[in-house]
Amino acid sequence: MFTPIVSVPTSAPLLEPPDDAADPPTGTLFERDIMGVDSESVEQGSLSGGKNGVSNEAARWPNAEVPYVFSKLYERDAARKHIVLTAMRGFDRTCVRFIPRKNERDYIVINAGNRLCASFVGNQHQGKQDVFLSIGACTDELGKIQHELMHAIGFYHEQSRIDRDDYVEINWDNVQSRGDFQRYDNTTAFGLPYDFGSILHYGTNDLGINESVWTIRPLLQYRANYSSAIGQRLWLSDSDEEKINRMYKCGKHRPPVPEGFATTDVSDHIMESTTSSYRTARRKSSTPSDRTTTRPGIMARMGKFFKSLFG
Ligand SMILES: [Zn+2]
Repeated sequence: MFTPIVSVPTSAPLLEPPDDAADPPTGTLFERDIMGVDSESVEQGSLSGGKNGVSNEAARWPNAEVPYVFSKLYERDAARKHIVLTAMRGFDRTCVRFIPRKNERDYIVINAGNRLCASFVGNQHQGKQDVFLSIGACTDELGKIQHELMHAIGFYHEQSRIDRDDYVEINWDNVQSRGDFQRYDNTTAFGLPYDFGSILHYGTNDLGINESVWTIRPLLQYRANYSSAIGQRLWLSDSDEEKINRMYKCGKHRPPVPEGFATTDVSDHIMESTTSSYRTARRKSSTPSDRTTTRPGIMARMGKFFKSLFG
């Protein structure tokens, strides 16, 4: 009896991509884009709550590998999928790797959701955990994607650091919710200085009652140098990378970049959408600087990455 040979393309996902989950109710979000932090630990001014703590080793991903799958909507949108993969490549200078899931128990699902950019902080050890990257709202800037991925790796917002009042001030009269602007003493910065240019720092006018008035800004002595850096969503800062390397004890170890990201089939359209914010910002910028926490410094780093990627 004749048995047909079924050829399975090697790039085919092992399993059917998961459905795009409904967004969590906004009431469950901490600081607007963090899922899974219970309100009790927030009220106590503490983030020690179990596995969510940034300093808690249990929230790390084993072998510094974050397995991912894309949801159905993403699998149907090759252009947006490539944008997310490009953002993931930005972590290559650390030892953390986003790898296509094979059979790992814990993994993230890149989920299109509904106008929401949100993530858990670190490995929740719950099997699948969502990273909401609403198509459009969260994919227009690579840094928005990297922001959520950095939460997933295990970090809270930069301005939550216990020492932040030495660097920034809060306009309490203009914040929508004081809970969004607290600082916490049990997160760790891994010995690194305050980073105005962190991809995880709020922007100057974020979460304000009046959106044209500032809510958070550098203290006077830092304002000239760092006002344009805070809230940047262009690219990981040098310090973001270093913090990841320290959290995951990378040392000099840098694993190879995983397969599955073909640079040759990146169309002009994708190039356009992934680099437009970079180019717009570059036009507005002043002289490039070596200081990576400033906006020109970030853009110089990002430009270097694209040059290496697209030639
Ligand atoms: Zn965030």
